[in-house]
Amino acid sequence: MSAPNVELYVKQVFADTSCIKVDIISDEQVIEKEYPLLAAVNRAAKCTERHRARVIFLEYVPEGPVETTVVLVGKGVTYDTGGADIKAGGVMAGMHRDKCGAAAVAGFFQVLARLQPKGIKVIGGMSMVRNSVGPDSYVADEIVTSRAGVRVRVGNTDAEGRMAMADVLCHLKEKAENEPDPHFFTIATLTGHACLSVGDGYSIVLENGPARRAEVGTSLRQAGDLVGDMFEISTIRREVSVSIQI
Ligand SMILES: [Zn+2]
Repeated sequence: MSAPNVELYVKQVFADTSCIKVDIISDEQVIEKEYPLLAAVNRAAKCTERHRARVIFLEYVPEGPVETTVVLVGKGVTYDTGGADIKAGGVMAGMHRDKCGAAAVAGFFQVLARLQPKGIKVIGGMSMVRNSVGPDSYVADEIVTSRAGVRVRVGNTDAEGRMAMADVLCHLKEKAENEPDPHFFTIATLTGHACLSVGDGYSIVLENGPARRAEVGTSLRQAGDLVGDMFEISTIRREVSVSIQI
């Protein structure tokens, strides 16, 4: 499903759900200004109208007071060719599923609409973009300044998930700063690390320092075990190359 069709679908799903608010960003200039990393991925795709990016925001506000705020950002790469660093050798098949992080966010809001839990506010972001190849493709070694003002050097255009999500996460960080007890999650099909560490088809969770201290990974894992949706807790480490001489 293309990003414009995801927009239509999400609007339709939540049309009669008063507790869920949907907000769509489709204006190209707004995307370039507010989400510059996602816009870099979108460059090769936007020349085809049906491939143009969308940023979709969802918000659930419960009845009564809010004690905890959950922020979810999902990777919604509608098709991942790898970009200029193209997925060669027959490994591209199946990359229509690279939007499953964003789909999981939308699904979570469907559950919220049905259960309408109290005490918890949930803000969702779906980063919908196609990683295409074309004359204006972003390429490795480009330096793009993110919404947060951080200069990002592209190492490989197939690592587009972080590009798609970082500015949306930044936007929601700004938005949630004054909300009670905010917790941030990104959900993505960033399969390389998971495949290498726990094998094909399994999920992992990675925590930053504050999340680790709050044992977020452990409680998520226990919740997953309860419903037969297990995953492993992995560790964020610095990328270093080590050579050992014996
Ligand atoms: Zn990729």
